Amino acid sequence: MPLYEYHCDDCRCEFEVLRSFSQADEPVSCIQCDSPQTRRAISLFAAVSKSDAGGGDGRSLGGTGCASCAATSCATCKT
Ligand SMILES: [Zn+2]
Repeated sequence: MPLYEYHCDDCRCEFEVLRSFSQADEPVSCIQCDSPQTRRAISLFAAVSKSDAGGGDGRSLGGTGCASCAATSCATCKT
């Protein structure tokens, strides 16, 4: 099941949700403030993990297959 990243417009937090592809475009409530004003942020996730090269947090999420870049390629799944 793919891991999607969402951004909350109300408290400006970012959080990740495991959802099926059919659920990906449905609204999701913020895990912190329960606001429905959230947006999916896959491209942001790729940009963040690329600029945050020192962290290495995203590496453990990817494994062999990268589920976070369905739309575009990302640094963790270049073939
Ligand atoms: Zn929020």
